[in-house]
Amino acid sequence: MSWYEGFEHIVREDEPLGTYTWFRLGGVAEFFAEPNSVDELAQLLRRCDQHDIPFRVIGGGSRVLISDAGVKGLVVHLSAPAFCETSVEGSYITAGGGAKLGHVVSLSVGVSLGGLESLVGVPGTVAGALKGNADSYGASIGQWTESVKVMSRSGAITEYDRDQLRFSYRQSSLDDPVILSARFELEPRDPHELTRRMQKLWIMKRSQQPSGSEGSGRIFADPQGISAAELIEQVGLRSLKVGGAELSEKNANYVVIHSGAKTDDVRMLIEQVKNKVASELGVDLQCELQIW
Ligand SMILES: Cc1cc2nc3c(=O)[nH]c(=O)nc-3n(C[C@H](O)[C@H](O)[C@H](O)COP(=O)(O)OP(=O)(O)OC[C@H]3O[C@@H](n4cnc5c(N)ncnc54)[C@H](O)[C@@H]3O)c2cc1C
Repeated sequence: MSWYEGFEHIVREDEPLGTYTWFRLGGVAEFFAEPNSVDELAQLLRRCDQHDIPFRVIGGGSRVLISDAGVKGLVVHLSAPAFCETSVEGSYITAGGGAKLGHVVSLSVGVSLGGLESLVGVPGTVAGALKGNADSYGASIGQWTESVKVMSRSGAITEYDRDQLRFSYRQSSLDDPVILSARFELEPRDPHELTRRMQKLWIMKRSQQPSGSEGSGRIFADPQGISAAELIEQVGLRSLKVGGAELSEKNANYVVIHSGAKTDDVRMLIEQVKNKVASELGVDLQCELQIW
């Protein structure tokens, strides 16, 4: 009997994971599921727990690099409508963890609520953004978060309010297996001013990072306010290439992927940059990417 008996309609084996990530690289997930409801997700989590199956959630895959050998256990993708709903109530927006961050940003501007517009152009989902406290142009998602609903491995749901949540640079206290949804408290603003600001930031963002049409990813956190891209340029590594992975001409803190690239090319490129910046500038760059 297979551990996922009764879930055959949502569990697939050997699913190529690269297509769910921005890098479009790497091997397969041993098991992959797109549950249809919160209840179904809870049952699946409990089943994993009973059978000691490792469990991870992938959001927009913009911060995850899949190893060439693939991923053991179950990878869950919260793509069903039950996980992507959004609603507006006064100055509050509630969004499912699987909702695209860009959709929530546009929604907030559309209803004249300010705060999240700084995050325009940050790829990924609401849950991925909360997990790593996504930030851009001086604002982070954490500062607008009023509460977050999460699920444990036993399927139990807990809601954390603002006082129970901690957000810092590219980090949050959210280490529960699943982030289900969040409620944001925003500020009413002038709709024309808000739209203009979002458009301006979007243009700036597009000029500073590789376009979404190529496989790409942001590599390092900016160490204490210093731009990681500038440090990489200072040590003369602009446009460094390893196999099919190359630092972006637009921004040296992004890697772009060419055909035939392997995840190991990206790993080696990251190692070379980290080592050279450490030996020449004494700065220990921290990789923002998670390698699964
Ligand atoms: C071109 C480009 C530009 C970027 N610009 C920025 C930027 O300006 N600012 C910034 O902060 N970041 C930036 N990033 C990094 C990245 O987009 C963000 O960190 C983003 O918020 C990650 O969201 P995601 O849904 O893609 O997460 P993923 O990469 O899918 O996952 C990241 C982590 O979150 C976890 N996770 C995802 N969903 C859930 C869930 N439902 N429950 C529990 N855990 C979950 C995953 O398990 C993983 O640990 C950029 C990346 C790229 C490729």
